[in-house]
Formats: sequence, C-alpha cells, structure tokens
Amino acid sequence: MTSILPAEIPKLAADAIVISVHPKPDEGEWLLGPNAEQINQLTGGLVKRLIEESEIVTSPLSCTRILEPAGLRAKSLLVVGLGKPSEASPGLAFRAAAAAAKALATKQRRRVLMALDVEPQDEVVAGVFVGSTGQDLYRQQRKLFPITAPLIVDGDPKALERGEVLGQAINLTRRLVNAPPNEIFPASFADICVEQGTTCGFDVEVWDRARLEQERCRSLLAVAQGSANEPRLVIMCYQGAPADHATIGLIGKGVTFDSGGLSLKPSESMLDMKCDMAGAATVLGAMTALARLQIPANVIGLVGLVENMVSSTSYRLGDIVVARNGKTIEVHNTDAEGRMVLADVLDVARERGAQRLIDLATLTGACMVALGRNVAGGMTNDESWYADIAAAARQCGEPLWQLPMFPEYSEQIRSAVADIKNVGDGRWGGAITAAKFLEEFVGGQPWVHLDIAGPAFSEKGSAWLDAGASGCFVRTLVQAIENQA
Ligand SMILES: [Zn+2]
Repeated sequence: MTSILPAEIPKLAADAIVISVHPKPDEGEWLLGPNAEQINQLTGGLVKRLIEESEIVTSPLSCTRILEPAGLRAKSLLVVGLGKPSEASPGLAFRAAAAAAKALATKQRRRVLMALDVEPQDEVVAGVFVGSTGQDLYRQQRKLFPITAPLIVDGDPKALERGEVLGQAINLTRRLVNAPPNEIFPASFADICVEQGTTCGFDVEVWDRARLEQERCRSLLAVAQGSANEPRLVIMCYQGAPADHATIGLIGKGVTFDSGGLSLKPSESMLDMKCDMAGAATVLGAMTALARLQIPANVIGLVGLVENMVSSTSYRLGDIVVARNGKTIEVHNTDAEGRMVLADVLDVARERGAQRLIDLATLTGACMVALGRNVAGGMTNDESWYADIAAAARQCGEPLWQLPMFPEYSEQIRSAVADIKNVGDGRWGGAITAAKFLEEFVGGQPWVHLDIAGPAFSEKGSAWLDAGASGCFVRTLVQAIENQA
C-alpha cells in the first residue's frame, strides 16, 4: 500500500480513482469532501453536475462509473454514494470501500486510488481487501480480481497497517469457510492454525483423539465418532499483556461438515454445510489480527473441530454422554451437534483461565427464523459483558440483536433420564434453548454467545460482498478486545 499526497492526484495515471459523495442537501451549502472537491474542480464541475442530473446516485453504496473523465489522467472515476452525512459511521466507511472495490474487481487493476472522504482509513483499507475478494477459489476464470495494494490519499501508516491486517484476517476466515469440506477437515484446519500461529506470533496446542479421550471430552467425541476424519481441539494463546491481566476466551464451533448425522439433513440444507465451521474460522481470523497488531491483551482462542457424519459408529438418538464437566446429556437430535462440541470446549476454556468468554457458532436455524439472514443473535449470562460486545459490534456496523435468557427456557432442556437433553421442546425458541444448553458449561463465567448462522454465509451476496462466507464478527472481536485493553 502506498500513500500519496492530494497534490499528486491530477498527475496520477491510475487505473481507477474512487471518490465518495453525499446527496445535495435540501437547504444550506453543498460541500463535497476535500478529495471529491478536488476531482470536481479538475473535471470542470462534472461531479456536482452529474449528481444534480441524477446520473451519479448518492444513496449508500451505489457505484457510478465515469470512463476517461476529462481533466484526469486516470482511466476511470468511480463515485460511491454515502447517503446523508448524518448516516456516517465506521461500518459505512468499510462497506462503501468494499462496494467500490467489488465494482472495480471485475478485472485486474494495478493502480487504484481510494480517495474516499470517509473515516477511519483502516476501515477503508479493510473494505478494499474484503470487497475485491470473492468465493471463486477454484474457478479457472476468476470473477473477482483482488486489489491488494490500493493507493490511499494522505495515508497514516498505522491505519493502513491495521486495515491491511484486518482485511487479511477477514479474508482468511472467508477463505477457510468457502473452501470445500474435502479440503477443510479437522486435521487440516488444525494445521492451518499451527501455520498461522507461527506466522502471526501466537502459541498453538493441538489435541488429537487420544488427548481428547484423556481429557474426557466425551461430548465432542460423540459427535466425531461417526467420521473417518478424526477430531481436533485447538488452543491458541496470545499473550499481549502482563500475565496478571484478565484473559478473554474466544470459542468457535468448527463442524467442518455437518450432514446432520443420523438426524440427516435433506440435500438442499446440506449443500452449504461446509460453512458450519465459520465460528472457528472467525476465532482464528481474530487471533491472527490480534497477534499481528500486538494488541495489549491476553486472549485464548479455542476451536472444537469435528465432522458430523453418518456411519455405523455415529452417535445415536437416545445416547447419553457425560460431558467433560460431568453433566450428562441425552441426545435427542444428532443435528444439534454444535452445542455438544462447544460444551466441552467451553469447559476447557474456563479451565485454561479464560475469565470472560465469547463463543461464536453457526448454531441454529431458529436464530435465522427469528432475526433473518443478516443479523446475529446475542445471548448472555452477564449484561455488562454483553454491553461491551454489543458496543463493539455497533462501532463496526455489524448487526447484532439480543435475545432473552429467561430461566423458563432452561425447563425446555431438562431430560427425563439425564441432566439435560440437546434440544428444547419442539422448535419454539430454538436459538435460546441452544444458548441455555451452552450456559450449562460456562461455569458461571461472564459469557456471550453469538449465533452467526444467518450472517456467516450468504447464498446471494450483496453490493459490497461476494456471496459465500462473510467473515462477519472478526472486526467486532478485534474491536471488543481493543476496547478492553
Ligand atoms: Zn447440525
């Protein structure tokens, strides 16, 4: 990434220059941001004229292309709309840059100048990385060509670095989720954690099946027992603060493929089930960013990696397993496997000294029924810890909505023969009964559960993001931990 001075813009032979604009106000003076104003003047008032003629659309994330604009040496000018100035936010800066980058990524472009008049710069840079990268990992003919070295006007080196690190972390998460389940399985995912630990600077410990048995992770092992691909539990340790500082635990569901097990999913709902490790991929992405940015905090990331398959060794309906913390679980549905995995991982996190916990999981379809595809559900046993996470999500513009945790919901997971069962009564409140199940394993520590079943993966994509994995909540996690530090 290169920073350039505003005075260099007129002579810049870029493939594209990107500026941002607000609509003309109903009253009062119409001011463009400094970069857009300079482009407006260099092009003889073209920008304002085209906005007045409604040729440039100023609604949020709309992109208008102007080819070979007179007065500039750039081959094209791309104008991205921001909506009203009152709507400005870091999240919008991220999405506006991503939308522009996505629009430009249809072919290879080497010199792209991001001259958006938005703050902060790190969100712009991260947005460029994310918006220009697609899910077409295996296509011989790419649809999107990543922009990996954008030019930035008056770039602040620290902000550029933070943006690049965040963008790459989000793209790592997306790549792992988008990669197929024959490539990403527990052992290969664990290997990637080890590699990332070495490159980024955090310690990684991997538990294989033998160690998991020794550690009594029977709930996790029950899910894994139907698959030829052996399970792993990965513990990533980043110590950026003195040892006496509190440790935050990030816990991710890593079901690398979820067939549903004996409670088999229908084909249509099974196709995208490579995405059932998105929670684990989010934790890994966040760990890479925290370590590379050397955030002064102590964080452990734990991911439980299994494949939920059908075979004569699969766990059955009616099975009772003893989880690591001693609670007995009756299996009522083998497709409610994520919580069985997280049960033991949460217990390990607590034992490893994580004082405050955040888990992320593509856990329930019920959460999508409740909140739709783009909003994550948040559940907690500690309102003040939840408020911290929700504040970070708002800062990043990542939609999160809290669901209640009334004690009555716990009644639904009582089992007649064991301590608890792994689903509630029917499908009512399914996102919450899943959270109530998890709460049984956090040992009373402050804990926030993020159900990302909706926003983690999209069949359709959007103006600013290709379809497939979104990498959502990597930014929120990093922001939340930075805010604590
Ligand atoms: Zn499942």
